[in-house]
Amino acid sequence: MSMERADRGVLVDSKFFSRREDGTIEVVGSRCRQCGRVFFPSKRACMDCMLWDEMEQVPLSRRGKLVSYSVSHDPLRGFPIPYAFGYVMLPEGIMLYSLFTDCEPFEERLKTGMDMEMVIDRMMTDRYENDIICYKFRPLDD
Ligand SMILES: [Zn+2]
Repeated sequence: MSMERADRGVLVDSKFFSRREDGTIEVVGSRCRQCGRVFFPSKRACMDCMLWDEMEQVPLSRRGKLVSYSVSHDPLRGFPIPYAFGYVMLPEGIMLYSLFTDCEPFEERLKTGMDMEMVIDRMMTDRYENDIICYKFRPLDD
């Protein structure tokens, strides 16, 4: 569902994403070949090993756990209100800051620690009417 919504649009930051041959958009980070640590956004050097040229691009897990969230009724950012945002912890130890979708009313549906899954979806529309595409998370049990 969300993939079709993402077909036409502008990626919020092209270095966060990779488009596979079948058109699927993945969120990608970099993994150190020496120690295995994954970074997002991608880094050119491992901060643990202090090695350059040992990083490879890897897709991030599409599932994680909800760490915290907030619900905003502030229209200033241009998102439809209310909107919910917060942090999801991925299995590779990366904490992603994200909007949440498909889970209204947020205060009833979102529970800290719950399993979440990533979708690629419209984040907002810019002043030129372009859809701006980013990752979001929604509860996995939907
Ligand atoms: Zn390393």
